[in-house]
Amino acid sequence: MTTNRILVTGGAGFIGSHYVRTLLGPDGPRDVTATVLDKLTYAGNPANLDAVRGSDRFSFVQGDICDAALADTLLAEHDQVVHFAAESHVDRSIAGADAFVRTNVLGTHVLLDAALRHGPTTFVHISTDEVYGSISEGSWPETDPLRPNSPYAAAKASSDLLALAYHRTHGLDVRVTRASNNFGHHQFPEKVIPLFITNLLDDQQVPLYGDGLNVRDWLHIDDHVQGIELVRTAGRPGEVYNIGGGTELSNKELTGLLLEACDAGWDMVSYVEDRKGHDRRYSVDCTKIRTELGYEPHTDFASGLAGTVTWYRDHRPWWEPLKERAAW
Ligand code: NAD
Repeated sequence: MTTNRILVTGGAGFIGSHYVRTLLGPDGPRDVTATVLDKLTYAGNPANLDAVRGSDRFSFVQGDICDAALADTLLAEHDQVVHFAAESHVDRSIAGADAFVRTNVLGTHVLLDAALRHGPTTFVHISTDEVYGSISEGSWPETDPLRPNSPYAAAKASSDLLALAYHRTHGLDVRVTRASNNFGHHQFPEKVIPLFITNLLDDQQVPLYGDGLNVRDWLHIDDHVQGIELVRTAGRPGEVYNIGGGTELSNKELTGLLLEACDAGWDMVSYVEDRKGHDRRYSVDCTKIRTELGYEPHTDFASGLAGTVTWYRDHRPWWEPLKERAAW
């Protein structure tokens, strides 16, 4: 059996750690090892990897994806890259975009360059639906042009296009995923769902942007990881795959569901000034990954949300210290 040595960047974050836990878990493939490369920024949390720390197929390297010498060493020792590492919070990118350009653009470039030197390497680049911009009706197929609006989305679009350029120019086996808004356990409590749940569990108000009518498609973390694995194992080089969950909700509708799940009323909501440049609606067309790779989201939104609320209720020691770290 050939073993695929996978380098997982950003594997101490929300989605990357779930990917690694799934990969090395009882239902994961047996033919893989996983090395996490993570800088452990405010969003990286070693505790997210506790479940796999004892596995002889797991290793951890604390480091920066912008470090070319480190990337060179690691790419020489791995066959595949699943690249999650990024600055990921839109609000922070509005306050200051330096770290976003550095990590998301330069860091991706450093990894692609190292992959090219040490190929053959399958390079799965984790992008986002935010690269498409905003859409008032219908859904984006992968062929739609990228029209990012926030600095976060623009930095992600840059890295997405750079990754595809390494395929077209150099023939590197790059595969890009563009997923919608993720939710689930272990998400840093600055993102809307865990922020609202943890505030409500602490009897604190939740901030709702503008008129609350911005619409997002919600994707459970299990389904996102399923989609990424399909792309890694069966996707085609040079191709982009949208991954969505199929539940579109306005922020106001989402807030109503979270209030209900936490036994709170609308008096716990404070309406705050809208986010600058707030995209109105995201919606991905997932026909390609469904028909080509057999992707199907399995988590029904209501039970996924209930499970997420329960997890935060039961894991105060995980999130309490992070609430302080989230302040900026
Ligand atoms: P996250 O913020 O929870 O995790 C990011 C991880 O990257 C952290 O562990 C952090 O320490 C690490 N990191 C940051 N800068 C680094 C650097 N310079 N070198 C090495 N490691 C570094 O983010 P997430 O929500 O898990 O998102 C993971 C990826 O998925 C990102 O690329 C994001 O753009 C993409 N994505 C996220 C969503 C979502 O809803 N969260 C949706 C679609 C796509």
